[in-house]
Amino acid sequence: MSSDRALLEVRNLTVDYVGEHSIARAVNGIDFDIREGEAFGLAGESGCGKSTVAFALARLTRLPGLVSGGEVRLNGENVLKFDKARLKAYRWNEVSFVFQSAMNALNPVIPVAEQITDVIETHNPGLGADGARARAEELFELVGIPPARLDDFSHQFSGGMRQRICIAIALALNPRLIIMDEPTTALDVVVQRDIIEQIVDLKAKLGFSVLFITHDLGLMIEFCDRIGIMYSGELVEVAPSEAILTNALHPYTRALGNSFPPLTGPRLRMEGIPGSPPDLRSLPQGCRFAPRCPRAMDICRVENPELRLYPEHRSQAACHLLN
Ligand code: SF4
Repeated sequence: MSSDRALLEVRNLTVDYVGEHSIARAVNGIDFDIREGEAFGLAGESGCGKSTVAFALARLTRLPGLVSGGEVRLNGENVLKFDKARLKAYRWNEVSFVFQSAMNALNPVIPVAEQITDVIETHNPGLGADGARARAEELFELVGIPPARLDDFSHQFSGGMRQRICIAIALALNPRLIIMDEPTTALDVVVQRDIIEQIVDLKAKLGFSVLFITHDLGLMIEFCDRIGIMYSGELVEVAPSEAILTNALHPYTRALGNSFPPLTGPRLRMEGIPGSPPDLRSLPQGCRFAPRCPRAMDICRVENPELRLYPEHRSQAACHLLN
């Protein structure tokens, strides 16, 4: 159950990729909050900037990427200004991560137990080896793996189990936010569903918030409380999940929704979205979606609309049609 209190406030976040001869603005001054206990999703086509946002929030942006502006506030503290010591406490204690490739990041020549207790002992030096082992057993139980398997090596587990181990490591220090970037993409659909159901249970039990990123809009709608739709580095709509398919305000959100088959009801022909997102190094003037938008007007090609709140819909959207 999420509250209205913001856990993480993202303000005017801007991320550039700096090339020798050009700069591509991958995230252009976006604002959003992740509330206490909320699952917040970021969706959009490949290259829209959603993973770049996740990396910036985790302070994992590496050159040629550069966080060139904005704030990410956790309880009023700007994460982007944290020094090394504060960053160490922020990562894993307050915010942890599960990435698509995480399950392949487990060290194949070290028993899994050691990899979990390492994280626990590094951040809780007072706990001791026995305490860390007991916590690792507890975490295995939480993610549904028998603790007797703690001393196995990663290759002895299936892909789904390896991803559960990564979720266990992410939970090790009781973080308040877990950033999950395509956490189930490499898994088959049945295992995907099992893992998502388990994350939902754990979230209800432990009360953490989630930033969830996936290209699977159906899965996201089922799992998230609210969803931000990104297009070409900007947020074009932020809405309760149930509104994304039934009451989307932005033409791009509607087009994205029409590109996914419904889970129930009659079989429909998928429409897709004609054209491609613009090159970030030479963006069109005005609304970035205008070259692909079936409802584009003259003003759309001149003025980029701002993200505004539409309280009657409990949504924010950036589109001239709504003004
Ligand atoms: Fe389409 Fe104009 Fe709205 Fe952009 S602002 S989505 S071009 S109607």
